[in-house]
Amino acid sequence: MSLLQIEGISKAFGGVQAVQNISFGLEAGELLALIGPNGAGKSTTFNMVGGQLVPDSGQVRLNGQPITGLAPRAIWRLGVGRTFQIAQTFASLTVVENVQMALLSADRRIFSWWSRASAHRRADALALLAQVDMQVQADRPCSELAYGDVKRVELAMALAHEPQLLLMDEPTAGMAPGERVALMQLTRRLARERRMGVLFTEHSMDVVFGQADRVAVLVRGQLLAQGTPQSIRDDARVQQAYLGTGLLLEKQK
Ligand code: ADP
Ligand code: MG
Repeated sequence: MSLLQIEGISKAFGGVQAVQNISFGLEAGELLALIGPNGAGKSTTFNMVGGQLVPDSGQVRLNGQPITGLAPRAIWRLGVGRTFQIAQTFASLTVVENVQMALLSADRRIFSWWSRASAHRRADALALLAQVDMQVQADRPCSELAYGDVKRVELAMALAHEPQLLLMDEPTAGMAPGERVALMQLTRRLARERRMGVLFTEHSMDVVFGQADRVAVLVRGQLLAQGTPQSIRDDARVQQAYLGTGLLLEKQK
């Protein structure tokens, strides 16, 4: 049984068919890149898996169980995590405090307990930071970190409730090319270690073809192709869809 099974989901906004009858699956421990031009329907697909949007039709299954139409929090509890940007209000907290906040949330404690709970699970938070190689910066405020390091803290926070499936919508946006590869290499290692499935979107073809186990290509709301990075790179329809954008021709940096 697949970890995630998407079965013919569709979503329209007014007259715009953002996602049209797409189906694909994802296994535990696997990295699947969902790629496509801007407006292809990638974020809409993510939001239908995470519960922020309800599909007009079709089904989303997690370990065989239908999750379509459940609230985001319910889907999160079932083991679907996503990376979010560290909120501005938490930038003044230290790195380890941010991860402790995420652990509090995973334990379903309320935010107002924070003042009494600042010692809460510090050791667990440090262990999570060690997994993303951020332990030495644990006591620095997040506001002082380099951008790539903030992204690694956000990844540690997403791991706090031990998701089976992690959704990452443009996780490397704004990062330098070398940092992009490093973040997704780290994600790949964690996916393997934790048997966690990862669905991610990414514009850098170096990252997509270097790190993903499989690639699914969305164009104008439709799934054009899915397969191994090599089969996608060689697919004439995919090359046609990207023609003129130069995306598939990007040189290794
Ligand atoms: P991508 O993430 O691949 O860039 P999106 O899923 O964000 O694409 O958008 C797909 C299409 O749906 C686009 O035409 C976009 O304008 C439209 N769309 C997305 N979200 C909304 C919304 N909340 N209301 C209206 N149209 C939307
Ligand atoms: Mg998007």
